[in-house]
Amino acid sequence: MFSKTIAQLSQGLQNGDFSSREITQEYLNRIASVDGQFNSYISITADQAMAQAETADQMIASGKAAPMTGVPIAHKDIFCTKGVRTSAGSKMLDNFISPYNATIIEKFNAIGSVSLGKTNMDEFAMGSSNENSYYGPAINPWGENRVPGGSSGGSAVAVAAQLAAGATGTDTGGSIRQPCALTNLSGIKPTYGRVSRFGMIAFASSLDQAGPMTKTAEDAAMMLNVMAGFDPKDSTSAEKPTSDYTASLNQPLKGLKIGLPKEFFSEDLNPQIAAKIQAALKEYQALGAELKEISLPNTALSIPAYYIIAPAEASSNLSRFDGVKFGHRCENPQNIEDMYKRSRGEGFGHEVKRRILVGTYALSEGFYDAYYKKAQQIRRLIQQDYINALEEVDVIMGPTTPQPAFKIGEKTSDPIDMYMEDIYTLSLNLAGLPGMSIPCGQADDLPIGLQIIGNYFAEERLLNVAHMFQQATDWHKTTAPGL
Ligand code: GLN
Repeated sequence: MFSKTIAQLSQGLQNGDFSSREITQEYLNRIASVDGQFNSYISITADQAMAQAETADQMIASGKAAPMTGVPIAHKDIFCTKGVRTSAGSKMLDNFISPYNATIIEKFNAIGSVSLGKTNMDEFAMGSSNENSYYGPAINPWGENRVPGGSSGGSAVAVAAQLAAGATGTDTGGSIRQPCALTNLSGIKPTYGRVSRFGMIAFASSLDQAGPMTKTAEDAAMMLNVMAGFDPKDSTSAEKPTSDYTASLNQPLKGLKIGLPKEFFSEDLNPQIAAKIQAALKEYQALGAELKEISLPNTALSIPAYYIIAPAEASSNLSRFDGVKFGHRCENPQNIEDMYKRSRGEGFGHEVKRRILVGTYALSEGFYDAYYKKAQQIRRLIQQDYINALEEVDVIMGPTTPQPAFKIGEKTSDPIDMYMEDIYTLSLNLAGLPGMSIPCGQADDLPIGLQIIGNYFAEERLLNVAHMFQQATDWHKTTAPGL
């Protein structure tokens, strides 16, 4: 049962092979018995999940079901969920019970999908390993003491360790794609504005985007069908109509032009990953695609640009956490300044403080032009590189990460080394483009991801390109040892 995809569970529910209550209870039992070893959930909402399953079974019985009705999934703990703690992985919000639902939560509720709980994550989505969580790291089921990637590490582990059929994540600089790559999942970061950010706790508002993390591209399409769409409550949400993302999954790939940025295949790339990406590209050629070398000349600047822009936005977004309206407040404040200082000092972890300091510095008078303005100019160049490349090719492919899952603690003392993890993922957030990661093999017995990047609002095409690969290969079907 736990190895079933969302598509298979959906089919089984429609056929009456099992009820939502049955599968929800089985998932809850499994979470209770094994999540102690994975730490993928921050909160488990068992009672609510069973009530949702009951509603779902009624919807199915009365013929009012949607494809995701009754399917048990999990949500990253960055999405506000009414009546449930929404911590964003931070001590600051450890006591925060949201009074309202994020739009995507409303959407999943409306079609009767079941939420098993809220998943672990790097504090305020800042990180590439899930080690920045106030609740401790989530553990990758693929290797002893390995990180699952971040910041949506808990969502990745929940799905990879078969503790949810699918999960939501967010991606500001790679946090859907990178953990998917490190845990053998399929995930899509949609075009900026495709999915509402309302009720999603803000990290860097011009980069943040929500998306699904699943076992297959087909499952990702099913979840995206629920999540995508215009939301009047989010002023950056795109007014463009959505597609049925499952409709063209099987479209043949004959004539597909794949661009290979030479900057993504430099000597920094692990040779085993390079070989697996080449093998995946051969598979695409066999499916009728054509390969073309391209260049994204400003790729190397994406890390410095991102690590100015994201902290700058974060320093502004996080100023609301001051102990006044919600979140952590220090004990016995002497005066208001003491309350601000100690509440923030106690509530935020190291990485968040580092970002607030960097961001505040970059935005300060005298440094703004040298850092923030320059970073925005570079951002524009990076975007233009992609626009030029996507005039010549339909999609761009490369690795998702420079190496497979690393050991817990391996990079915590060197933030730059940690930031380098994001070298292949950050640039498309800066450009606002959609990107996917899908399993394409292993290096040292650890999973690796193939990244597929497309033009603005080309989610349907990306999912089609991913799905056709999954029809021809079995990488996505391998599970972690012992599962
Ligand atoms: N690793 C990147 C960071 O730490 C991206 C995180 C994300 O996408 N949320 O900022």
